[in-house]
Amino acid sequence: MSVTKKRVLVTGGAGFLGSHLCERLLADGHDVLCVDNYFTGRKDNIAHLLPNPNFEALRHDVCFPLYVEVDEIYNLACPASPIHYQHDPVQTTKTSVSGAINMLGLAKRLRCKIFQASTSEVYGDPSVHPQTEDYRGNVNPIGPRACYDEGKRCAETLFFDYYRQHKLRIRVARIFNTYGPRMHPNDGRVVSNFIVQALKGEPITIYGDGSQTRAFCYVDDLIEGFVRLMAASDEVTGPINLGNPVENTVAQLAARIIDLSGSRSRIEYRPLPVDDPVQRCPDITRARNVLGWEPRVPLEIGLRHAIEFFDRLLSEGAEPAPALSPTV
Ligand code: NAD
Ligand code: UDP
Ligand code: UDP
Repeated sequence: MSVTKKRVLVTGGAGFLGSHLCERLLADGHDVLCVDNYFTGRKDNIAHLLPNPNFEALRHDVCFPLYVEVDEIYNLACPASPIHYQHDPVQTTKTSVSGAINMLGLAKRLRCKIFQASTSEVYGDPSVHPQTEDYRGNVNPIGPRACYDEGKRCAETLFFDYYRQHKLRIRVARIFNTYGPRMHPNDGRVVSNFIVQALKGEPITIYGDGSQTRAFCYVDDLIEGFVRLMAASDEVTGPINLGNPVENTVAQLAARIIDLSGSRSRIEYRPLPVDDPVQRCPDITRARNVLGWEPRVPLEIGLRHAIEFFDRLLSEGAEPAPALSPTV
């Protein structure tokens, strides 16, 4: 396939999703500028890309202005796991809001397309199920998740105001729980926690009774959705849900991981964090119709890849620090 080589900026490019996106864009023949302050991202995630002459990494915090020349921007910079985004909540909101303003200002000066990594958290603890893009959400504006949820909601507002006011070409994706290799081993997210616990034979920590649901998308599927959305015609602004519509309870996920990793871990129940959404699953009708996109990797296959990754990480002696606890 012949492609026009573009200069693409990926903010948060050293993170879990960002590093996979950089890899994909390089494979598609583009020139990639990865911008990251390494708050939750790791140089290890992009070390294998550094020898590529089409790849460049820049340490920078998106809360500060950035003057570079590119053709497209993917704005992913923001800690994504509850323990990380609640660690310094003021910085989380600043990253979402000031980061969006700076990247939108950059896109406005360059007149280039800009993609925003928004989130299913804009729906909060949803009362509509599965969640469609026109559902406006049920978010607690003053709770411990608000720094992330409201920051991302405000970023969406900014994207749509730059679209209306400055005729910017925007793409807003609402990403649902995604997993795969290069997740941070101690970011406290459910898939990484359960796999690391299972591999170490430690108790699997289910918060609440495990009946809350999530739908898990494998990273390669998600990145395909990003690229298709960016390539779509300019009327396709989003917001558009990207995620896997197969819903599981957290207890089912624990059982799956114990089984696939051959672990002898037992289950340990812990308190449910404050404002933890009870039920979450995307309606991806819009992504199917507009992008011709849907996830292809079944949970079992994706989990096997993730287990292999964490197994290697642990055997290399990269002993993860114990996961912090979310606010309960
Ligand atoms: P991640 O924490 O691995 O990656 C985020 C990256 O952003 C990290 O490399 C981090 O160092 C960087 N970063 C944070 N603050 C920054 C700042 N101020 N300036 C520059 N860089 C900064 O998380 P991820 O899972 O890869 O998530 C990437 C994006 O996707 C985030 O915006 C997140 O909100 C969104 N998202 C992810 C998921 C998911 O399930 N993984 C779900 C919904 C939304
Ligand atoms: N900005 C940036 N890079 C650019 C252009 C702008 O980082 O190439 C930042 C700059 O800090 C500015 C913000 O983006 O404050 C918003 O830019 P915009 O042009 O929308 O607003 P203004 O400059 O009027 O504040
Ligand atoms: N969870 C859990 N045990 C863990 C980590 C998370 O039971 O060790 C639960 C958490 O309470 C939530 C779900 O798993 O109901 C997904 O949590 P995660 O932090 O991965 O993402 P969220 O969708 O809540 O942002």
